[in-house]
Amino acid sequence: MSDIMRPISFANLIEWSLNEYKAQGSVFGLDKSKFYVNRSGSRFVTPFGDRIASVVGPAAGPHSQLAQNIIVSYLAGARFVELKTVQKMDGEEIRQAVAKPCINAEDECYNCEWSTELTVQEAFDEYIKAWIAIKVLAVEFGLSDGNDFAFNMSLGYDLDGIKLPKMDAFIEGLKDASQLALFTESIQFLKNHQNLFDKVDQAVIDAISPQICQQATLSTLHGCPPDEIERIAHYLLTEKKLHTFVKCNPTMLGYDFVRRTLDDLGYDYIAFPDKHFLADLQYEDAVGIFARMLAVAGKEKLAFGVKLSNTCPVDVKRGEVPSEEMYMSGRSLMPLTINLALKLSRAFGGELPVSFAGGADAFNLKDLLEAGIGPVTVATTLLKPGGYMRLNQMARETESLLGKGGRIDVAKLEKLAEDTMADPRVQKRWREKVASRKTGSELPLYDCYKAPCKDGGCPIEQQIPEYNTLVASGDYHEAMRVIAIDNPCPTITGVLCAQPCREKCTRLDYDSSLHMRDIKLMAADQAQDEYISKMAASPLKTDKKVCVIGAGPAGLAAAYYLRRNGVEVDVFEKRAASHGIVRYAIPSFRISEEQIDRDYKLVEAAGVNFHFNANPQFDPDELKKSYDYLILATGAWEQGRPPVEEESSRVLDALDFLIGVKEEGSRDLGKRVAVVGAGDVAMDAARLAKRMPGNPEVTIVYRRTEMYAPASQDEFDAAMEEGIGWLELLAPVRYDGSKLVCERQRLGDFDESGRRASLGTGEFETLEFDTVIGATGARVDKKLFTKIGMKTDRYGDPHLSFTMESSIDGLYVIGDCRKGPSTVVAAMGDAKKAALDILSREGLDHDFVHARVPVDEAVILERRGELREGKQAPEEGQRCLICDQVCRICTEVCPNRANVALAIPGFANSEQIVHIDGMCNECGNCATFCPHAGKPYKDKLTVFWSGEDFSDSDNTACLQLVEGRYRIRDDRGRVFDVPQSELAAKAGAQMAAVITAVTKDFTWLLNNEHDCNEH
Ligand SMILES: Cc1cc2nc3c(=O)[nH]c(=O)nc-3n(C[C@H](O)[C@H](O)[C@H](O)COP(=O)(O)OP(=O)(O)OC[C@H]3O[C@@H](n4cnc5c(N)ncnc54)[C@H](O)[C@@H]3O)c2cc1C
Ligand code: SF4
Ligand code: SF4
Ligand code: SF4
Repeated sequence: MSDIMRPISFANLIEWSLNEYKAQGSVFGLDKSKFYVNRSGSRFVTPFGDRIASVVGPAAGPHSQLAQNIIVSYLAGARFVELKTVQKMDGEEIRQAVAKPCINAEDECYNCEWSTELTVQEAFDEYIKAWIAIKVLAVEFGLSDGNDFAFNMSLGYDLDGIKLPKMDAFIEGLKDASQLALFTESIQFLKNHQNLFDKVDQAVIDAISPQICQQATLSTLHGCPPDEIERIAHYLLTEKKLHTFVKCNPTMLGYDFVRRTLDDLGYDYIAFPDKHFLADLQYEDAVGIFARMLAVAGKEKLAFGVKLSNTCPVDVKRGEVPSEEMYMSGRSLMPLTINLALKLSRAFGGELPVSFAGGADAFNLKDLLEAGIGPVTVATTLLKPGGYMRLNQMARETESLLGKGGRIDVAKLEKLAEDTMADPRVQKRWREKVASRKTGSELPLYDCYKAPCKDGGCPIEQQIPEYNTLVASGDYHEAMRVIAIDNPCPTITGVLCAQPCREKCTRLDYDSSLHMRDIKLMAADQAQDEYISKMAASPLKTDKKVCVIGAGPAGLAAAYYLRRNGVEVDVFEKRAASHGIVRYAIPSFRISEEQIDRDYKLVEAAGVNFHFNANPQFDPDELKKSYDYLILATGAWEQGRPPVEEESSRVLDALDFLIGVKEEGSRDLGKRVAVVGAGDVAMDAARLAKRMPGNPEVTIVYRRTEMYAPASQDEFDAAMEEGIGWLELLAPVRYDGSKLVCERQRLGDFDESGRRASLGTGEFETLEFDTVIGATGARVDKKLFTKIGMKTDRYGDPHLSFTMESSIDGLYVIGDCRKGPSTVVAAMGDAKKAALDILSREGLDHDFVHARVPVDEAVILERRGELREGKQAPEEGQRCLICDQVCRICTEVCPNRANVALAIPGFANSEQIVHIDGMCNECGNCATFCPHAGKPYKDKLTVFWSGEDFSDSDNTACLQLVEGRYRIRDDRGRVFDVPQSELAAKAGAQMAAVITAVTKDFTWLLNNEHDCNEH
């Protein structure tokens, strides 16, 4: 089965590490520039007396399961490794119990796995191999003398299990491995292969201690009785003579506290019953146990402490993982864990050592350390793009703070707990309501790198990484040129673009998406006027003519794209000026006339003919006599659905109100104004209402909660900052000119829109307002379509092709009039499709060329794995990860290093991704973060180490048979054996190129004890 991990032998681990390092300057995909060296020599002294060179390391979990994971952790900066939990249930039995994919780290993380998927013996072997390998690799790579780290064994879950012979052998073997075959054989291998190393000599090998681990963390299952926990801790301290941490569950905080905390932070959708809160160790019992264990440990001259905390058990509600219950970690766990730490630290006056695992990352690690907490282990942050590289920043940035752990500074911890609750980064809304960053594109077998901001995020495929780089380097003129390739509204989009690109930005999974529009506006402010002054209309390349109806963003964009490419275009606009809604409805406090005019001049300079104040009663048949193509871009200007059943003269339509104020000036709305709806238009209407005479009190009334409000986060925040009131879970039903009666709502399950349904409760509330503004969405005048004779669907929307062409040949429908109110950039995206179609029908080339702005790979790598606060433009561009030049996300986020990026000549991308089946347990993490729709562990060319695993999979794949022969499954699913000489002919040139490179240049990928020379 392909979810079974095949451990790598010690010899192969060493050879793989050294060979890859020599050939690629990396080890298991971690570039040597991300290797961590504590040059200051500072040390963190753990409660157990270990002197370690950083305070951080992987938590017992996916990053400490296999030897290569632990090695990579160390190289990146981990110096405290909590080994993945072992328990009596192991191997096949646990694999059967854990459904895959078992991890979903899209935002806060969920998993449905518990302890190692290996057998206890296999796990033990992994830990021994990792221990010895780190000892020599640390020296060989000049990182340390190999004595600056510690292993911590994690044991579960009951005393009888822990006493089983296999578990006891595990414990005793880690305490002293000197007599064990694997240890002695591995040492012997090193002695026999000293020639492999430059810096590792006999003395280094002789100094490798067989005493691997004298400390344990007790992991308890939910429902474990308190006396059992005490018995195990007592046993570990007194009989096994191990320093002991007991891992506590956040359930110790009590159901009400956890529920309230998660609700307050916006995680109200996380569902859990109180059963674990009732059955798990209770706080009062815990305090008693810990006090007694501290005394026992004192007598034994050992240390005792707590590990805070375990993951939080919650219900699977939206198929997050294939299970009924799952375990929550990450940023939503942080506020719980820190409060548990505070509660226990207060109870013990700071004398109870606390090791932390609950949503730590590079942003909060320093604070934890300063409060006396440590060591700190992490999992969720390592599952995100950047992966293990994130350890480097954490280690580096806390190097100067290392000191003795064990004594908690309660006052500092109090402050930290308070700050954490107020930290916007732990609030759900920090992610700006974005769930998945994945786009809809199929994952290609080769050349998969892409910038999802541009390719999948931006409807006009704006060349975002390129202009980010140019603006960051101060080259505004070139940035402007690059922006204008795809965008006829650089200033408008720079001011108010809805930025769908930000929803796909890789940085969202680091810290926060880039602010693309600020960067763009900087380029436009600096260089658009000059750019326009140098523009000249392109020569006409055809005698065909296009007529555009409507000079909003959609019509203007279509005209600009076509005219620039040599097609004559006439735009007929019924109003006196351009840009539709943007000029006539969007309030001037958001965008000025001058800014709109600047974009008008850009389109005008391209040579488009404008006819303002045109007769709105156009006749398509008449127009067809003079024009070859007709583009309808008339927008959505009809009043929306009224917000309440009973109408009143004091009920206004938001669009009417916005347009009215622009055309006729301020109007009196009274003292109290309600705006019904929570989209961007509602925010604008509310902010404008606030500016009306008498500075009225303005309140937005919404039937769901803020989390599900359709407004973009920026617009919502801007409204709140201006003092707009917010009332949620209220659905207006009646208004008599002063009293607005609303039905109280509650949130139901998630509906198809991905939001929780709002359900009436039958309870009503009456609010007093002088004016009610309905912002429930403007509508399109759909009569137009039938009048013209277009085919429409049952909603009256026109039937359109992918290129926006209607059922009438040569007649296109674009922008808001296509399907209702949308955004400026979406309107321009429609225009681009229509323009490209017309150009292609006329056999004309287009000039949407890719502007190459290559960035040094070292610079990109330097940014990877580093969390950074957002900055102002132009520096903000320096946070860009240039994802289309280097992606590698699947290689970074794989805990097991099962995806590799190989430099293979002859392809468009600098690297190709190959999946190594034997290292993968199908946790699914690479699928969560790959920006394409696909799953790297399923869709990428896969190298197999055994015929059995090859047969059990349907991946496009290669298995090396005897030297020079391969078993292939090609991308059409055909399986065949071929000699090297026929590889290209039978498997295709690209597959042959990758397989040949693997077998010639990256041989360690095949160099496994499971290799198939016998097949
Ligand atoms: C209050 C408000 C705030 C918004 N804020 C944002 C925002 O921050 N960011 C964002 O991206 N989007 C925003 N939008 C949406 C955005 O403005 C629209 O999606 C965009 O303007 C649509 O462009 P369009 O060209 O399709 O339509 P429109 O802008 O509506 O332009 C249509 C044009 O066609 C003309 N026209 C109509 N009928 C005829 C006819 N028969 N003959 C000739 N001309 C005709 C109209 O006069 C108009 O000029 C907002 C919308 C509103 C209402
Ligand atoms: S990091 Fe840069 S290239 Fe990557 S998605 Fe974000 S803006 Fe685009
Ligand atoms: S390749 Fe993907 S599914 Fe497999 S272990 Fe790595 S992250 Fe998990
Ligand atoms: S995550 Fe991996 S498979 Fe997906 S695009 Fe990036 S490199 Fe390619």
